[in-house]
Amino acid sequence: MCQAFGSLRVMMRVEGIVPILVGNAGCVYGLDFVSHFYAARKSVLTPVYTAADLTNGRIEDRTRAAVAETIAQFNPRVIALITLCNEETVGLAIDAIAKDYAARAKDDPTFPLVVPMHVPGYGVKSHAEAKDIAASQLLKCLIERDGVPPRQSDAASTIGEVFPADPLYLEQLLAKMGIRLVAHIPSRTLSDFRKVLGVSVNVTLHPFYVKTCALLAKHKIPSMGCTPVGVEGTRTWIERIGRAFNVNPARIEELADTESRAVATVFARTPIRGRILIAGYEGSELMVARLLVEAGAEVPYVSTNIGQTPFTKEDEAWLAARGTTVVFRKTFDQDVIAVDELKPDLVLGTTALAAYAKERGIPSMYFTNIFASRPLFLAQGAQTIAELVNQAIGRRAAYQILTDFFAAVEEESTPATAL
Ligand code: SF4
Repeated sequence: MCQAFGSLRVMMRVEGIVPILVGNAGCVYGLDFVSHFYAARKSVLTPVYTAADLTNGRIEDRTRAAVAETIAQFNPRVIALITLCNEETVGLAIDAIAKDYAARAKDDPTFPLVVPMHVPGYGVKSHAEAKDIAASQLLKCLIERDGVPPRQSDAASTIGEVFPADPLYLEQLLAKMGIRLVAHIPSRTLSDFRKVLGVSVNVTLHPFYVKTCALLAKHKIPSMGCTPVGVEGTRTWIERIGRAFNVNPARIEELADTESRAVATVFARTPIRGRILIAGYEGSELMVARLLVEAGAEVPYVSTNIGQTPFTKEDEAWLAARGTTVVFRKTFDQDVIAVDELKPDLVLGTTALAAYAKERGIPSMYFTNIFASRPLFLAQGAQTIAELVNQAIGRRAAYQILTDFFAAVEEESTPATAL
């Protein structure tokens, strides 16, 4: 999938934002198609231009005209102006276009904010990192126009696309320490993005929001990178955020103990037995691997499309200490070799890898869909994932029957060699 989809997906979901994709017709068609496959409820706009316009400079005129027309027709609150490979290569100046509108947006809060986003596939290495570009650019432009709101000493925010129930669990847990979870982004509302700028501590639930966290750090909002996944992760998360808000140590210890014990009870009741290979592209693969290892699984290999970040270090070290090979910026071939060599009982992979494993009679599931549609945090997440993974491993015999069946059909349909 084109990496730019990460930015487009985040922007398509926010009410009041209209995306303009400046790209080759084929690229725009693919991105538009995928966005509607994921149930986008708005249109993607794009300037129409020819190949000659790219070289003679008229691409800038066409883009400016598309922005002006979008404002005239829709007057959205924000225009996400997204450039793709060809337009980046010819140096289309979307920052200059956005700047021309910025002064007017500053004077008139009802005038649309134009937010430039550069996401060429050759420069942005993963779909996940394109989400970070979208979130950070939107926050940056909001700060430039509106400034930073007053800091709320008891407020926290979270960043990361997670199952909708997970932020609610975290909100309830934080409330027990007197901390208010006031915003979770990427969300459907612009006001959530604004609220993040007024918190005391931000928590990144996915490790690739590096640009967003750097922007917040510039405005003295620190970001915490740990997640409440598994026994140790849950304990560490509660301890760190409690200390960050100067919560009474006894209260922190009490909650950390209760919540981490609840996860341990799930693993004792629902242990996972089997060798599991994890190969996604989302950036959340490492924390899932930790959860499975704590539940008793053997996880010899984890791969992801994102690169190493300051927020991946801890999980990488934890997994390496338990014998797991962690591969960043992986290729499909590396994943295939891992399946062939490690002979797992279950593959949680990309669609292509899951198909490859199924053809060999290995139970497999598409990582992204599985973990985007279920809770992952605290005891609720542990329970859901442990049950799901055990069911999947238990289907091995059924996969083998299917593999044998098709092997027999193929053998029968192969003409006998004439003697
Ligand atoms: S990576 Fe570049 S060329 Fe490929 S679809 Fe995306 S924008 Fe188009």
